[in-house]
Amino acid sequence: MTSQIDNLPISIEFFPPKTPDGMEKLRQVRQQLYVLKPEFCSVTFGAGGSTQEGTFAAVRDILAEGVDAASHFSCIGATRAGVREQLVILRAMGVKRLVALRGDLPSGYGTGGEFQYASDLVAFIRHETGDDFRIEVAAYPEVHPQAKSPASDLQAFASKVRAGANSAITQYFYNADAYFRFVEDADALGLQVPVVPGIMPITSSTQLMRFSDACGAEIPRWIRLRLQSFGDDSASIKAFGLDVVTALCEQLRAGGAPGLHFYSMNQSVATLEICRRLAL
Ligand code: FAD
Repeated sequence: MTSQIDNLPISIEFFPPKTPDGMEKLRQVRQQLYVLKPEFCSVTFGAGGSTQEGTFAAVRDILAEGVDAASHFSCIGATRAGVREQLVILRAMGVKRLVALRGDLPSGYGTGGEFQYASDLVAFIRHETGDDFRIEVAAYPEVHPQAKSPASDLQAFASKVRAGANSAITQYFYNADAYFRFVEDADALGLQVPVVPGIMPITSSTQLMRFSDACGAEIPRWIRLRLQSFGDDSASIKAFGLDVVTALCEQLRAGGAPGLHFYSMNQSVATLEICRRLAL
């Protein structure tokens, strides 16, 4: 399925619901979003494989709906034998795309496992399965929170590309300059992979603050203050969020971003509306 909004490919991310009811709701959300003709839909993978069953079930559903599906796959705490087994399952399911990650374990779990970084996972997948999978990796225009420095984070990104990643999806951000700078820096290192910006629609103020604190994405002061000033007025938060995120997407498209990856949070309304506005 080729996907275009004014020739800009999009992809959409979901997380695996915990209940049968949640799975059914997600099916309905996906049907609404398929009008956008996404290039692929991806499903996140919980720390230490905790959501493996739900992730694989949602990936199976997406493939059965005739849409390309990417399974996220994290290696923290995993063994080589375990990853090998899961790759066999994914291949048998007909999965052709993986988002290969290190992942995070809840504090107190230590790291353990036989993989230290996502680059180790990418190298292992290539070693085990050749070119069977298209591999996406994570990129951090505003620098990963545990990185020693921006330069070492860029080198970590380079290691993933050199280990065999085909393309990258970024952590979300609201400052387009950070993205353009990251792409320039990656180009300067000769890393010839598309870096697709991750887009987080703004639909709730508290949820956004909570996520952003945890993953190191910066909410610019002017956005934070505006959101705070709306208090519980969710209609104003949503209206403001649509304006801000659509303008960001416009800026990214104008600057040559190779696509947009939407963090849907299993909701369709904001993503649909942003895409509708972008097509105008
Ligand atoms: P890595 O690329 O391994 O980097 C982790 C840290 O190690 C960075 O600080 C990096 O600078 C450093 N580093 C890497 N290599 C080296 C080296 N050789 N020497 C020194 N330092 C090094 N999490 C989930 O649990 N499930 C998901 O489904 C999921 N999906 C995601 C999708 C996207 C698009 C993004 C952007 C993130 C996602 N995450 C997910 C979050 C991700 O797992 C965390 O951000 C995690 O902390 C880092 O994963 P990584 O793959 O980027 O790790």
